[in-house]
Amino acid sequence: MTDLLLGPFSLRDPARARGLASLLQRYAPKDPVRIVHVCGTHEMAIAQHGLRSLLPRGVEVLEGPGCPVCVTPTGDLDRAVKLAERGAIVCTFGDMTRVPGTRVTLAEARAHGADVRVVLSPAEAVEVARANPERDVVFFAVGFETTAPGTAAVLLDSPPANFYVLSSHRLIPPALVALLAGPPVPIAGFLAPGHVSTVIGARAYRVIAERYHVPVVVAGFEPLDILYAIALLLRQVREERAEVENAYPRAVSEEGNLRAQELLATAFAPSDAVWRGIGRLPGAGLSIRDELARHDARRAFSVRVEEGEEKAPGCLCSEVLLARAVPTDCPLFGDPCTPLSPVGPCMVGVEGACNVWYRYGERPEL
Ligand code: SF4
Repeated sequence: MTDLLLGPFSLRDPARARGLASLLQRYAPKDPVRIVHVCGTHEMAIAQHGLRSLLPRGVEVLEGPGCPVCVTPTGDLDRAVKLAERGAIVCTFGDMTRVPGTRVTLAEARAHGADVRVVLSPAEAVEVARANPERDVVFFAVGFETTAPGTAAVLLDSPPANFYVLSSHRLIPPALVALLAGPPVPIAGFLAPGHVSTVIGARAYRVIAERYHVPVVVAGFEPLDILYAIALLLRQVREERAEVENAYPRAVSEEGNLRAQELLATAFAPSDAVWRGIGRLPGAGLSIRDELARHDARRAFSVRVEEGEEKAPGCLCSEVLLARAVPTDCPLFGDPCTPLSPVGPCMVGVEGACNVWYRYGERPEL
């Protein structure tokens, strides 16, 4: 397989793509297998480039809980809405303003007068706090290990006293374990997200391979990166191996980004956390450490929220996030649920499986 290893400037080479397609057929499994990735960017590349059409018969690749907007629980959304309605400036990423909470979205709260602002980074939210010293400014922090170091960095950089973080950050490896520990859905292997893996390193997935005997391959985001990673996974399945392999060595190392890991460990502690549509997962969230409690919006403001209804009637987001269904299994897909009028969170963000399938006309098999 070494002749097909991806070198620089070869990431969209048709000859290599044909070689990888042949390789996929060579490693075609005897029985049907389900491979799960947890990354909206992977889903976009797979759908946009029609990669499912190259998979051997019987190989399914599904998106699990890889969209941070989709898994942010209604309780946190409702808390952010209440803080904004009480007069705080709430800053967050664009997609989060459109996700339905129990009553309203943040965008609807803004339409009724609340001060909700879209930012591109936590540092921008700090700037909003510096520019408005008389107001409380809350950064509603969502995302996985990729975005959490940025939040940690601003928390540790002496932000102004009126700056707070509402942490809804989530961790990927505990979610993979939860997918395996749930009711029996045979998952033959995981494609690990390249960007998360640059932070946590390939070694972070060893527990999946060693304890649960499920192979993991770290994958980049070019179409050939993904085909190559799937070929490595299928080869492990055929050879009945369960190891962690790194198909994205140009960006991911075994140990990951130690400085980012240090920032995360200094600012946050792992905690049990609700994933929308999935439930409470042990150790799958990040809580702000006691030393930084003065900037923790959960502790600074007394806000009561109920654990909200996590999905609209008829919405199959939970099953999609657990890789037990594909978006087109949902009777609401496309009518009435569309990116312009989303019924569930999987249709809101550009990384949500339903949103991706709607935009690229994806099907389980072509
Ligand atoms: S199509 Fe809409 S309603 Fe159906 S699972 Fe996706 S987000 Fe939920």
